[in-house]
Amino acid sequence: MSKIGLFLLCVLLSLSSCRDLSERVVDSGLEETEIQVLPTTTSESGKTLPSLASLPDTAFVRLSDYSSDFSFDLRYATENNFMNTRVYDCPKCYTRAITARALIEANAAFMKKGVRIRFFDCYRPNSVQYLMWKIVPNPQYVANPVKGSIHNKGGAVDITLETLEGEPLDMGTDFDFFGKPAYHDATELPTRVLANRKLLKETMEHYGFWSVRTEWWHYNLKAASSYPVEDFKWSCSMALPQ
Ligand SMILES: [Zn+2]
Repeated sequence: MSKIGLFLLCVLLSLSSCRDLSERVVDSGLEETEIQVLPTTTSESGKTLPSLASLPDTAFVRLSDYSSDFSFDLRYATENNFMNTRVYDCPKCYTRAITARALIEANAAFMKKGVRIRFFDCYRPNSVQYLMWKIVPNPQYVANPVKGSIHNKGGAVDITLETLEGEPLDMGTDFDFFGKPAYHDATELPTRVLANRKLLKETMEHYGFWSVRTEWWHYNLKAASSYPVEDFKWSCSMALPQ
């Protein structure tokens, strides 16, 4: 190869490595921007959302946006409840972000045992609490709306367990059965019922929830129990999952 040819080859090689270098710099710059500015996740409906970890504890989130591993039977959006009346315009399950994180962790533990959480109720707007109080003005069944329920704070959920095929576990009574067989200290129940309730209670407690003595289905997240009562209402205009 002539000296001129060798020189041209060197120039070409050097240009090529410069271009590679500049592409690497540009690429790395874009990656940094994405990580720093857009901590997002994509929901089932294809919507881009902020990641659950990046949200403030008090933010309200729809659980189905952050996990497709839950099951829903939101009774207050139907007439199949103790009031025999629909009090929600549509079935949606919202909680505070801190509650959602704990529920996702608890559900992962349940799924390792072949079951998952099925929701009956989640966050409940305070105005719906007033409506329920109007229908059943009895503090034994409905929390007084003036003080509010932890459901109104986005820190309580009503749940049961079902198999991964969708078969509910036997808990001895239906949701919102008001009477002694629904109490945690009821012992005259079949062994399998007691075992199912124990699995639900022990796992939920492990992830920061506490129960109330008279309702096997109700769990409050300790960390969210003192949040303010809210009246945020979810939209029913979009045909999206619960
Ligand atoms: Zn409840």
